[in-house]
Amino acid sequence: MAPGGGGPRVDGMNGIPPNRTGAAAPRAAALGRADSGPDCQVLVVGAGPTGLVLGAELLTRGIRTRIIDKGDGVALQARAIGIHARTLEILDMMGLAERFTERGQVVRHLRFYSQGRCLTSLEFARCGSRFGFLLDLPQDETERLLRARIAELGGVVEQGAELTGLAAGADAVTASIRCNAGQVQTITAGYVVGCDGAHSRVRSELGLTFHGQPYPQDWLLADVLLDWDLREDAVHAFFRLDGLPMILFPMRGHRWRLTLPFAGSRGGQAPTLAEIQELTDQRAPRPVTVSDPTWLANFRCHRRSASGYRRGRVLLAGDAVHIHSPAGGQGVNTGMAEAHNLGWKLALVASGRAPDALLDSYGTERRPVAEQVLKLTHALVHYGSMSHPIKRRVRDIVVPALGRSTAIQRRVASRISQIYVAYPPGPLARPDRARGGPRPGRRMPDIKVRAGGQAATLHRALRGGRHVLIVPAAHLASALSDSGLRPYSSDLQVVTGDAAQAPAPDNGTGPVLLVRPDGHVAARGSPGSMEPVTGYLRDLFQEPAGHPTARSQKTVHHTPSAAPPQIKDDLEDTAAGKPGTGSSAHWQTRNLT
Ligand SMILES: Cc1cc2nc3c(=O)[nH]c(=O)nc-3n(C[C@H](O)[C@H](O)[C@H](O)COP(=O)(O)OP(=O)(O)OC[C@H]3O[C@@H](n4cnc5c(N)ncnc54)[C@H](O)[C@@H]3O)c2cc1C
Repeated sequence: MAPGGGGPRVDGMNGIPPNRTGAAAPRAAALGRADSGPDCQVLVVGAGPTGLVLGAELLTRGIRTRIIDKGDGVALQARAIGIHARTLEILDMMGLAERFTERGQVVRHLRFYSQGRCLTSLEFARCGSRFGFLLDLPQDETERLLRARIAELGGVVEQGAELTGLAAGADAVTASIRCNAGQVQTITAGYVVGCDGAHSRVRSELGLTFHGQPYPQDWLLADVLLDWDLREDAVHAFFRLDGLPMILFPMRGHRWRLTLPFAGSRGGQAPTLAEIQELTDQRAPRPVTVSDPTWLANFRCHRRSASGYRRGRVLLAGDAVHIHSPAGGQGVNTGMAEAHNLGWKLALVASGRAPDALLDSYGTERRPVAEQVLKLTHALVHYGSMSHPIKRRVRDIVVPALGRSTAIQRRVASRISQIYVAYPPGPLARPDRARGGPRPGRRMPDIKVRAGGQAATLHRALRGGRHVLIVPAAHLASALSDSGLRPYSSDLQVVTGDAAQAPAPDNGTGPVLLVRPDGHVAARGSPGSMEPVTGYLRDLFQEPAGHPTARSQKTVHHTPSAAPPQIKDDLEDTAAGKPGTGSSAHWQTRNLT
């Protein structure tokens, strides 16, 4: 379909006139709009945390990306204030974790109380990550740091640009945009991703339903000072006989985020400090004075998820596809993880390196995670608001007993911090029969590796944006001599790893590990048996980067690689001039949704 042309529409999309208004293109058009074809390869709608992570992941890989937002800058409300361990690992793979940890406050415990008695303290250190804590950072700060990254990558957030309609063609999607000044323009994009929050216009343009329901009453939030010497490295959740809990989350400057669920139906009206004080008097286990509010808010929580993650060239991520209560601080973390899962796949597809069907794996992998998040947040609300005396009594006996078990502590900490997230077996997580070691689909721990003769870590190696192949130093030459690997030399960062840190599978299929750009294990092989690894690469890539056609594509630019130069040269030399052996048949013949 010609850009802006009248190709077939995605079912359920509202129509827009496909003509351009001739209004001046926003600044981001300077990102490299081609003379013909779409204005950009990907249009990201919404510059909240989800859209900003996605934008950064695409820009890192040289994808012509436009990011629009209807707002006029960073949202000035603190909103989400908890960044969990898996999100910090993702930020580490993006080279941003240090910037975040420098600015945030470390929270190590989640303490549950009933009638003023501490039932248990969940230790985030048990989550299994080197980031054994929850980082307290207000959402506006998170967005500022991500916007700075977008700018470093040469990108721009086009502010005051509201998406008002979408029309899909065979080769592109046309988005209708209303600018602050009132003019309307269109942007054509190879793909559009709706990261436009709970009231997503993209979702409604796709005609997708947002199944679920609201919780029965409003919740109140207050960012305040308290005259209470509670430990500031812990979140404190107070359960009560009447089922009306109070949650205190530490913030910088000795401030607290006070959350008061089930505060009646207030019709969206923000509370006053006097009302917050009154509710605190009712719910706190001791007298506390609340003062100096920086933010008071009233909101109604919903538990909803969209009926799909993708329709053709349009995808959804973050709050646009699921919303839930803030219990457990999952929302912003889930959205950023989705963007990280989608970013590398969309970059490969948008640049023609991988077949379009790869994008179906995004929903296949992320939907079950979002379902777990909805269950977890609902369970936390349910247990925290129990008022039935018998159920409450059982809770108050069972929770301390469970909390004493190290295994349960580990399990719950890894669940809340999203470290547990693993993807199902399939083309992107090659199942094997080996026991032990990090299994395909699971998150690969940030082990020490050697890259380019230098000591490094896996996350550091992943900053190059490519798959990382971890080979034991002793087997490097034999593993790399596999002819099936050579065509993919430009798609791989090869590092040597210590098998003792990344325990190898025990039946001979290890210990070579292929790690996806999002840090999950793709496939495992061994020096004499690389087929799981090479099979994965053959199925993933439309054609190897070593193929002359792919080499001539100028759209994919990886950031400088830290691959050992000798290894890279070896692979590239051998690959040069070899015809491509890759095939997309695997994707085309499998139903991934
Ligand atoms: C009061 C409150 C407290 C919360 N507390 C927590 C918490 O403690 N922990 C937690 O994890 N989560 C919390 N959340 C949820 C968290 O804020 C969200 O999960 C998170 O913001 C989702 O990020 P997102 O990028 O997907 O969407 P958003 O942050 O909503 O970003 C969407 C962006 O899209 C833009 N946009 C919308 N429509 C259009 C359009 N048509 N065209 C162009 N741009 C558009 C918006 O301007 C916005 O910038 C809270 C939310 C609220 C409201």
